[in-house]
Amino acid sequence: MATEREVTDALASVRLPGAAGDPVSAGLVSGLAVKDGHVQFAIETGEAGAERMEPVRRAAEQVVGTLPGVLSVTAVLTAHKASAPQREAGRAPARDLLPQVGAIVAVASGKGGVGKSTTAANLAISFRAMGLRTAMLDADIYGPSLPTMMGASGRPSSPDGKTIIPMEAHGVTCMSIGFMVAPDAPTIWRGPMVMGALEQMMGDVQWGPQDVLVVDMPPGTGDVQMTLTQTAEVTGVIIVSTPQDVALLDARKGVDMFSKMSTPILGMIENMSIHVCSKCGHEEHMFGHGGVRAVAEKLGLPLLAEIPLDLDIRSAADGGAPIVVSKPASPRAGIFRDVARTLIADGNA
Ligand code: ADP
Repeated sequence: MATEREVTDALASVRLPGAAGDPVSAGLVSGLAVKDGHVQFAIETGEAGAERMEPVRRAAEQVVGTLPGVLSVTAVLTAHKASAPQREAGRAPARDLLPQVGAIVAVASGKGGVGKSTTAANLAISFRAMGLRTAMLDADIYGPSLPTMMGASGRPSSPDGKTIIPMEAHGVTCMSIGFMVAPDAPTIWRGPMVMGALEQMMGDVQWGPQDVLVVDMPPGTGDVQMTLTQTAEVTGVIIVSTPQDVALLDARKGVDMFSKMSTPILGMIENMSIHVCSKCGHEEHMFGHGGVRAVAEKLGLPLLAEIPLDLDIRSAADGGAPIVVSKPASPRAGIFRDVARTLIADGNA
C-alpha cells in the first residue's frame, strides 16, 4: 500500500511546464490524502494557469496510479489563492454575514425531490477531499435534510449564549435548522421567522475561515433565495433538475430568478438521467433524457453532469454517508468529483 511519502516522491518526478522544477518543491501540492488505496491531492496552478497545468495534473495522476496498491487517483487543479473567486464590483451585498468564507456555491432546484441535497452533500465532501476547507449550510428551513444526508446528529452548542458552534461531518463544517428544532417545527413558521433563522445560521455561527461553502437551497424561487443573495456574496448557483418537462419548467424559473438578481449560474446538472438495472445492466431513460442538456444549451449554460438514477446513490445519501465517501472508487462518485474539479478549475470554489 502506497504511503504519503511514496506519493510525494512520485509527484516530485513530474516536471512543471517551461521552467525546470516539480510541483512538490514548488509548493504547489496540497490536501494530499491516501486512504485504502485511494489517493487525492490538489495542485495549485500558480502563475502558469489552468490550461498549462492540465498536462501536469494528468502526469501526476498517471505516475501516482502506477504505485503499488493504488486503486484510484484524483488530482484537481486549484486556482492560486490570490486569484481565487474574484469579487465582482457591483455585486457586493448590502450586508455580508459570511465574511470568512471564500467562495459560496448554492445548489438550487425548481422543485423538490430532484436530488439537490444529494448533489450538495456529495459536492461538499468532494471539495473537502480535494483539500479545501469546506462548510455546508442547509438553507432548506422547511425541509432540512443535511443531518440525514451527512449522517450528523446532536445539537450545536453555544458556550457564550450568542454564537453557535457548528457541527462537523465527513470533515465538513455543517449547519442546519434540523440540528436545532424538532423535525416538523419549521413547517408552521411564518416567513419572517424563516428569514430570521437563515440569517442566524449565517451570521451567528462560528464558521471560521472556509475556502468554500456549499449551500443546499430550498426548492423553488422565494424569500430564502433573496435573503441569501442579499446577505452574502454568492459565487454562483448550480441548478439541479430531472429530465422531466415539469421539473425543467421549474428549473427555468430558477434560472430566470438568479439571473435577475445578477447571481452567476455556474451550470446545470441533470439528475436521475438514466436508470441502469443493478441486476442485468439494462439502461432505461425513466424520466426521458437529454432535456436538461437541451435547456442548458439554449440558455448558454454549461451542463456540469448527467447523474444516473442509481440505487447506491440513494442508499448512500439516505444512509448518511454519500457515495463519494461510501464508494469513492465507483464511477458514480467520480461524476460528483468531476463537478467539484470543474468548479475548482474555473476558480468558482
Ligand atoms: P431534493 O434536495 O431535491 O429534495 P434529495 O437530494 O433529498 O432531493 O433527493 C430525494 C431522494 O432521491 C432521496 O431519497 C435521494 O437519496 C434520492 N436520490 C437523489 N439523487 C438520486 C439518484 N441519482 N439516484 C437515486 N436516488 C437519488
